[in-house]
Amino acid sequence: MKRKPEWMRVRLSSTAHLNKVKSLLESYQLNTVCEAANCPNRLECFGSKTATFMILGKECTRHCKFCNVTSNPPEEVMKTEPKNVAKAIAELGLKHAVVTSVTRDDLIDEGAEHFYQTVVEIRKLNPETSIEVLTPDFNGRRSLINRVVEANPDVYNHNIETVKSLYESVRPEADYDQSLEVIRLVKDINPNMTTKSGIMLGLGETEDQVIQTLKDLRHAGCDIVTIGQYMQPSKKHIELVEYIHPDTFKKYEDIAYEIGFLAVASSPLVRSSYKALESYQKI
Ligand code: SF4
Repeated sequence: MKRKPEWMRVRLSSTAHLNKVKSLLESYQLNTVCEAANCPNRLECFGSKTATFMILGKECTRHCKFCNVTSNPPEEVMKTEPKNVAKAIAELGLKHAVVTSVTRDDLIDEGAEHFYQTVVEIRKLNPETSIEVLTPDFNGRRSLINRVVEANPDVYNHNIETVKSLYESVRPEADYDQSLEVIRLVKDINPNMTTKSGIMLGLGETEDQVIQTLKDLRHAGCDIVTIGQYMQPSKKHIELVEYIHPDTFKKYEDIAYEIGFLAVASSPLVRSSYKALESYQKI
């Protein structure tokens, strides 16, 4: 695997606060992407009262080549999870909560109702907390996306992840146009809802392809975009082609604002929930 350049090196010192968050999540049997992905930004995010909860179990029905999530037989949906997420958010005093999940193609509603219930429970217990959902593509099914929009989250996020020409090798069970359709449908269902998406760089995409993806997202009605560096979780995952220089991320940030995005987070360590509250507050 390629040697990390200096701008990718983060010293993550374990702090009492990180451990407190971890034990609290365990006490509610909750998963976070933060822990599952060993995210380098945990300290900063938890410090700014933001965290990302992963509902619907740890096992995904898809096999994206960049993702560290496993694909063993999916787990039973935990009925108490919506309330537990809401209680954990209250105990952590979070200002912004992101709710995401693995893809559950095995469920009749693909988990849409569980997203709905989770947002409703969070809102009941934490009226001051802004809520962002980061959903799978629900196979582009309008009725399922509509159910999540009905819960009225503050931000509806769905990641496009990479450029169209790399889908087959990076996200073989997903579809580029279908992911754009998710964003378009959210705006069609509720034009006032803030939409968001994210892309990883360093998988061999060209600059023109990245700019085309930004244009496609904006055209679909996407308001916020995150642009970050792909980090290869292990030798089993798709090969990292290159580390993109921070200056290039800055260039994409400027281009994204020119294209019309309302908020952009673009730098090597950016993840889809990184500075999520900050981006949302820019809208
Ligand atoms: S659908 Fe999401 S959780 Fe599942 S493998 Fe792909 S990126 Fe990972």
